[in-house]
Amino acid sequence: MDFRLTETQEMIQNLARDFAEKELAPIASAMDKSGSIPPVIIQKLAEIGFMGVNVPEEYGGAGLDMVCKALVISELAKKCASTAEVVSVHTMALDAIMRLGTEEQKQKYLTAAAMGKVAAFALTEPGAGSDASAAKTRAVVDGDDYVINGTKCFISNMGPEEGDFVVLIALTDPSKGTKGMSAILVDRGTPGFTIGKTEEKMGIRAAVVSELIFEDCRVPRSNLIGQEGQGFKIAMMALDGGRVGMAAQALGIADAAIEATVDYMKTRVQFGQPLSKLQGLQWYLADMTTRTEAARALIYEAANTLDRKEPATKIAAMCKYYAAENAVYVTNKALQIHGGYGYMTDYPIERMYRDARIIPIYEGTSEIQKNIIAREVLR
Ligand SMILES: Cc1cc2nc3c(=O)[nH]c(=O)nc-3n(C[C@H](O)[C@H](O)[C@H](O)COP(=O)(O)OP(=O)(O)OC[C@H]3O[C@@H](n4cnc5c(N)ncnc54)[C@H](O)[C@@H]3O)c2cc1C
Repeated sequence: MDFRLTETQEMIQNLARDFAEKELAPIASAMDKSGSIPPVIIQKLAEIGFMGVNVPEEYGGAGLDMVCKALVISELAKKCASTAEVVSVHTMALDAIMRLGTEEQKQKYLTAAAMGKVAAFALTEPGAGSDASAAKTRAVVDGDDYVINGTKCFISNMGPEEGDFVVLIALTDPSKGTKGMSAILVDRGTPGFTIGKTEEKMGIRAAVVSELIFEDCRVPRSNLIGQEGQGFKIAMMALDGGRVGMAAQALGIADAAIEATVDYMKTRVQFGQPLSKLQGLQWYLADMTTRTEAARALIYEAANTLDRKEPATKIAAMCKYYAAENAVYVTNKALQIHGGYGYMTDYPIERMYRDARIIPIYEGTSEIQKNIIAREVLR
């Protein structure tokens, strides 16, 4: 394993770092409080190439590899985990189109996405969370159309004003279970497709999450991605890449929390000496740093595995599981080291702590990642 970055990867990392520093850091706290990301930020993300980071150049994207995508997400997450979440989910949805979409779909959706149209991925339903196979949303063929009925919940990137199209997983043949699921593109504004409740969240507050309601929503059959019955497989494939994205988000938060903690330990004086002199706290820092480096190594290995087009389900689950739990661990310890100041909104640690807490839950909980890892190990 060689985890040294190529020249291009280093250049992209620096570009993302500068962008996050200049565009996100000054407004991250305000975005958290307002619960939204200004559209101008999405436009700037598109202009710099990050909304199309994984989109081939022929469709207006940057055509970069998974390592670059992970670097971008993690650099954005250092300053604003909500923005990192938007890019991670958006690029995961695009992945499904890139892999199995028709040329017409690629021309339409990938090109628009690279220019700043925001994509979402809708699998979860009120009765189908970890058990995605329990999804009930139906898509019934009627002439040249699908007629869609059902409700999706907790869908990132879709809000009252946010989100342009969604990769929807719906049952086209309920008698076949997961083999009867299909992936269908639905545009915002399609009659019968409405945004329901937008959630109030503990963390990643600026990244919008909503319920999607489909009532006799009619879309052309040409919006089907791949074949009928491939929806669950498409979702699982996209999730391999998506999990590396979420792990990268976790890594960025952990890196930022460690950086802030080091600064704080060097400047905060108690009992006549800086906190950095206290061995008990040094040991916290040693654990935080060691675990974070282990998370980084897993993420690079998972991203490289995907870039080599090798089976990545196990390593993607491992990096998501480990990096997510690590971000919660690190931000918890960072807050402890900051004492009462860490609990106050004047310091960024409390936001990092809240933001990190979602990562062991979405795109497959830690428990589900462990199920996947064990299944792959026992194969
Ligand atoms: C902020 C946010 C954004 C999200 N964005 C999206 C999105 O864009 N698209 C989308 O489709 N979904 C999205 N989700 C949904 C997310 O993926 C689900 O919340 C997640 O998969 C867990 O499902 P659940 O919440 O229904 O929990 P449940 O499945 O009800 O799980 C409850 C608990 O039981 C445990 N559990 C369940 N089954 C098992 C098992 N077999 N073994 C051991 N433990 C188990 C879980 O680990 C968890 O601890 C989002 C969720 C949130 C909170």
